[in-house]
Amino acid sequence: MNEEQRTALVTGASRGIGAACARRLARDGFNVAINYRSDSSRQAAEELREELERDCGVRAVCVRGDVAGFESAKDMVAAAVEQLGRLDVLVNNAGITQDGLLMRMSEEQFERVVDTNLGGTFNCMRHAVPIMCKQRYGRIVNISSVVGERGNAGQANYAASKAGIIGLTLATAKEIGGRGVTVNAVAPGFIETDMTAALDEKAVAALTGHISLKRLGAVDDVAAAVAFLASDDASYITGQVLGVDGGISL
Ligand code: NAP
Repeated sequence: MNEEQRTALVTGASRGIGAACARRLARDGFNVAINYRSDSSRQAAEELREELERDCGVRAVCVRGDVAGFESAKDMVAAAVEQLGRLDVLVNNAGITQDGLLMRMSEEQFERVVDTNLGGTFNCMRHAVPIMCKQRYGRIVNISSVVGERGNAGQANYAASKAGIIGLTLATAKEIGGRGVTVNAVAPGFIETDMTAALDEKAVAALTGHISLKRLGAVDDVAAAVAFLASDDASYITGQVLGVDGGISL
């Protein structure tokens, strides 16, 4: 890699795990492109941008775009590169849930989750990979889930999307390793964010009982794993799935 300042694009970075990844990468010295989708996320994204520039002394920009759209993802990746000059790290974090039992799941409910989580990861990789291959350097970190490895009742759509991300990660790691681009996945367990805020106290207590470390994870636990895989310390690691789950998968 040359001496220019490294640049990272984090999808779905206005809050939760994505915002923690953006903060951590900025602390590690990356210029950061913060992707957000909705009007309601614009202000949070803008506040995060100001915080990173002020507290970490890096350049940060906001890039709006829906990762589920092929063209929208293309424009978003292009906007990040145009504003920051290069793209070294892509963190595919944007994701949604729309839970329900398979027997009652609508086609739309299945497709929406798969199109956002798996389709969105493909779309962003599809547009970032040629740039990374051309510069012969890149780090892609895809956010999967323990649910993609082990399943979870009521989340067939989400589990399928997150399992698909693992296959996408492994196949692409084989394709582009020779170009100096690594592709890895992080599989979080249950992390305290808006996504898991709907769980009531009883559900959290029951869940915690299955976690070896006896607590839900924090967003910074995931961000630390992402930052490691994005760093030069991980330059000989590709095609791996790193669990950040407190031992729930044991
Ligand atoms: P969150 O708090 O719900 O945040 C999700 C983020 O993704 C939001 O910023 C959201 O922005 C964005 N997003 C959703 N759809 C998008 C789209 N089509 N295009 C661009 N951005 C989009 O979720 P989180 O808990 O931080 O989860 C982040 C990732 O970690 C997800 O992939 C999730 O599946 C995964 N994960 C989470 C857990 C957990 O326990 N929390 C566990 C395992 C894996 P808008 O609000 O603007 O849509």
